[in-house]
Amino acid sequence: MTPEVLKRYELVNYDPKHGYPGRWGRFYRCPICGDIMPSSPPTSLACGCGNILIDQGTVRVKHADQQPFLLKKRNLIKRLLRALKRGH
Ligand SMILES: [Zn+2]
Repeated sequence: MTPEVLKRYELVNYDPKHGYPGRWGRFYRCPICGDIMPSSPPTSLACGCGNILIDQGTVRVKHADQQPFLLKKRNLIKRLLRALKRGH
């Protein structure tokens, strides 16, 4: 994962064997094409390479060894406050 992505998102651990814990504020990132998409989109959605398809809360992954990363948006306000405390 590129540092640019990790600046904005936090990696959330999950086990795909136990399902995909998609919900509001969570995102999936395809390890092949790098597309990031909301984990619970209002319509069905697929990443650019078609590895990941999200359809009405169901996540389908074409290549079982290319499971999507689960991401959480970093809390910008928290980060700002921390930065202010440090005096930057
Ligand atoms: Zn993809």
